[in-house]
Amino acid sequence: MVKKVAIIGAGINGISCAVQLQNKFKSAVEVVVISEEFSPNTTGDGSAGLWGPYLMGKTPNDKIFKWSKSMHDFLKEIWLSDKAGEAGVCLIPCIRVTLEDGNIWEDIVYGCQHLNQKQLDSLNEGRARKFTRGHFFTTFTSEPLKFIPFLTKTFLENGGKFVKRRIQNLNEFSHSSEFDIIVNCTGLGSKTIVGDTKMHAIRGQVARVKANWLYCAFIDEADDGNYIIPNTESVVLGGTHQIDDFNTSIYPEDSEFIFKGCKELLPGLKHVPTLFQWAGLRPGRNDVRLEPEILSNGKIIIHNYGHGGCGVTVAWGCAEDVVKIVQTQFSKL
Ligand SMILES: Cc1cc2nc3c(=O)[nH]c(=O)nc-3n(C[C@H](O)[C@H](O)[C@H](O)COP(=O)(O)OP(=O)(O)OC[C@H]3O[C@@H](n4cnc5c(N)ncnc54)[C@H](O)[C@@H]3O)c2cc1C
Repeated sequence: MVKKVAIIGAGINGISCAVQLQNKFKSAVEVVVISEEFSPNTTGDGSAGLWGPYLMGKTPNDKIFKWSKSMHDFLKEIWLSDKAGEAGVCLIPCIRVTLEDGNIWEDIVYGCQHLNQKQLDSLNEGRARKFTRGHFFTTFTSEPLKFIPFLTKTFLENGGKFVKRRIQNLNEFSHSSEFDIIVNCTGLGSKTIVGDTKMHAIRGQVARVKANWLYCAFIDEADDGNYIIPNTESVVLGGTHQIDDFNTSIYPEDSEFIFKGCKELLPGLKHVPTLFQWAGLRPGRNDVRLEPEILSNGKIIIHNYGHGGCGVTVAWGCAEDVVKIVQTQFSKL
C-alpha cells in the first residue's frame, strides 16, 4: 500500500526532504508539502546561499561536517551537470576572515589556503580594525531564489503536491489517519507549533545591489563584520545577526552599517545601484533538532528545524538523515 508523508514547511529544508523522499521511495510513497508560505517567501529566498557552516549554536561538529559535506557533494554534482544555470549553482572564490583558528570546513571546500601575513597586511591597508587570520578557498553558492524553485520543479514533476495552509499546532495531525508520518520543517515556526522554547530568531538584514563585475565573495566573521556575496544577477551585501529580534522591517542604522562597511572593503561598490533591502529571521536554536518523536497514540513526527545561519548549507545532508529515519519507521509500521 502507498504510504503518505506530509512535510510541514516549504523552505529549503522542507523541499530538500520532499525531493529526497521521492528519490528514495519512488511511487511507494506519496509526499505532500503543507506550508503557509512558499518560495520566494521563505527565509532562504532572501539569503545568498553561500555554502558555509555559520551560527549553528552547539550542534556537534561531526553532524555539521556530515550535513554540509553532503550538500557540497550535491552542489558539485549539479554544477557538473546541464542543470547548473537553472539551479543557480555557481563556483566562486572566497576570502573568509575568521576569529578562530581551526574550522571544520576547510577540508570540504576547494584549495583552502590560510592567508599569510603579507596577504593580511594587504587586506588591512587603511583599516582601523585589523584582520588577524583568514582563508582563501573556492566553494559554491546555491542561490535560493533559483535553487528552491529548481527543487520544487523536480518535486512537482515527480508527482508531489503542495497545500497552502497555516498550521496552528502539530497536534492537529496527531489523530488524523491521513498521513503515516509528519516531517516538521517549519524553522522558526516551531517556536509556536511545537512550543519549542529553545527556538529564537537571529535577525539578518542585507542589501542586494547590481554589480555584475564582482566575482569573489568576502566574509568577515566578526560580530561587527560585513560580507559581500555575488549571486548570478545581483550581489548580496551584509549583514547583521541580532538575537531575539523578530522585526523584519529595514533598520536605517543597519543599512548604513552594511553600505558603509562594504564600501570600505570594496570602494567600487560606492557607485552601484541598490535593487532592494531585506531582513529575515534565521531559525536559531542551541542545536539543530533532527529526531523522531513518537506520540502516545503511535503517530510519528520527525523534527528537522533550527538550522540557524546555514540552513541552505546543511539542508541536503539533514534531508538524508530524515529519509533514514522515515525508512526505519516504515519498517515498524
Ligand atoms: C540574512 C540571511 C542570510 C543568510 N545567508 C545564508 C547563506 O548564505 N547560506 C546558508 O546556508 N544559510 C543562510 N541563511 C540561513 C538560511 O536562510 C536558513 O537557515 C534557512 O533558510 C532555514 O530554512 P528552513 O527551511 O529550515 O526554514 P524557512 O525557510 O524559514 O522555512 C520554514 C517554512 O515553514 C513554513 N511555516 C512556518 N510556520 C508554519 C505554520 N505554522 N504553518 C505552516 N507553515 C509554516 C514557512 O511558511 C516556510 O515555508 C541566511 C539567513 C538570513 C536571514
